[in-house]
Amino acid sequence: MPQAAEPLILDGIALRDLMVTRIGARMAAAGNPKICLATVLVGDDAPSHTYVRNKHKFAAAAGLQSRNEVLPATAPQREVEDLVRQLASDPTVHGILVQQPLPPHLDNDAVLRLLPAEKDVDGLTTGSLGRLVRGEPGLVPCTPLGVLRLLEHYKIPTSGRHAVIVGRSTLVGTPLAILLSRKGVDATATIAHSRTTNLAELCRSADIVVGASGQAKMIGAEHCKPGATLIDVGISRTESGIVGDIDFEAVKGIAGAVTPMPGGTGPMTIACLLENTLSAAALQGTLT
Ligand code: NDP
Repeated sequence: MPQAAEPLILDGIALRDLMVTRIGARMAAAGNPKICLATVLVGDDAPSHTYVRNKHKFAAAAGLQSRNEVLPATAPQREVEDLVRQLASDPTVHGILVQQPLPPHLDNDAVLRLLPAEKDVDGLTTGSLGRLVRGEPGLVPCTPLGVLRLLEHYKIPTSGRHAVIVGRSTLVGTPLAILLSRKGVDATATIAHSRTTNLAELCRSADIVVGASGQAKMIGAEHCKPGATLIDVGISRTESGIVGDIDFEAVKGIAGAVTPMPGGTGPMTIACLLENTLSAAALQGTLT
């Protein structure tokens, strides 16, 4: 029996590194203006500290400045809000990222409401999401933007194609569906969720399937049309380590292209945070 062809691997590490190099070149061409990303980290959640460290590492590699504001897990609401207000009004700070999740005693929505849309590099505020829906210039959530950049870079056709996104959060699934169905990208986007019936059949009808449910390896051979593109956003911590939504071994003989896990959408989220920081500086008139 002939062996199925290996799928194209949508390598997010290679594309992140390319994007960092391009941002560095754009900064140099602009005379290295001082563009600053500020992160706000509350508490001692270990994965959050690792994520923030990585964001600063790649910001520096791209020639951006960064500030890391850390508050103790016990910080009261007012202290967090005062810090965000101060960063919001500081003209030397172009992008602000409040690392999620905040400790449970804090009102996350009240903190996010303090972020001006022009500095909201995570694209999570009502202002940013409103601009996305209305098609106005603004900052788009980093993970969905990273998925779009992967599709563009690896020349995966989207126009007229059917994309099924498994997950409907405001962080990933919903903004991704809006991005993929925007004019110029032109996919027909379907959002699936935990109440969707016949999920496997629905996914099998798709040219592009994005797993953003956080359910370990839930997307397998029965969800995959021959030649389809599968993008893994999900992260599940299991006894055998960190796994995604996609069962890579099950789909690799069927899919036409697939993201590795790790090394797919995670690195792209960081690259798009840097892209958003440049976009924020442009919205504020610091970069042309
Ligand atoms: P949420 O928990 O907010 O949303 C998960 C979504 O998946 C919900 O809409 C839920 O449906 C849906 N869902 C859950 N189980 C099923 C199922 N069995 N079948 C179909 N749909 C299902 O998560 P997030 O959107 O914040 O994150 C999604 C995943 O992506 C997580 O694993 C997260 O860790 C990861 N992530 C990865 C990033 C990266 O850089 N790669 C960045 C951000 C997140 P319902 O609404 O009905 O409950």
